[in-house]
Amino acid sequence: MLMLEKTFPLSSKMRISVDHEKLGNFSQSHVKFYLKYSSFVFRALKKPSFQKFLHWMLEKEKIEEQVVRAVHVKVLPFRRKNGKGVAGKCDTVRGRIRIYPKTMKFCQIFTQKFGRNTLLVYAGNRARAALIHELLHLKYAENEKTVRELAQDYFYIFAQKQPAQSSKALCIYTMIFTAKSVEKKLLQASQTIQVQG
Ligand SMILES: [Zn+2]
Repeated sequence: MLMLEKTFPLSSKMRISVDHEKLGNFSQSHVKFYLKYSSFVFRALKKPSFQKFLHWMLEKEKIEEQVVRAVHVKVLPFRRKNGKGVAGKCDTVRGRIRIYPKTMKFCQIFTQKFGRNTLLVYAGNRARAALIHELLHLKYAENEKTVRELAQDYFYIFAQKQPAQSSKALCIYTMIFTAKSVEKKLLQASQTIQVQG
């Protein structure tokens, strides 16, 4: 018998989005890489198990699904003026959320250190953690501390419920929420690679 999977309203509000005027700043190989990255992340965010989880979380937080107008999976990365990469943004007035990728350089170093499969698990779960975080901003607005704490708790609940990948997802959980130390290690690794090269 054909089983139809329940679709969640949030899923239909998601799209891949690219700033065409910024494309010229990137080489062809970069653009190709980021297009692949965004379509992978898009699929990861649309997975029914994750959508079901978000539906449950929004209900629990009493955030109405129609408050979320759009979720844009951005193709190109975004950096603040201080050089720090941004995982996501939330326009609480418009109800619009943007999810950004890691840079190609980060992904190359990460792959050298942990392998491609771990990068894919990392990229998918980093985007999920970012979407959880930005959705919570719709309710808690500027209260960054509360959003961070709740996002961490919710992502943990999601990661724990993933039967096949639970150990890996939990490992990634540690990576995402101790990202600073990971990035530091990766930076050291990249410096080592540069010295060797
Ligand atoms: Zn935030």
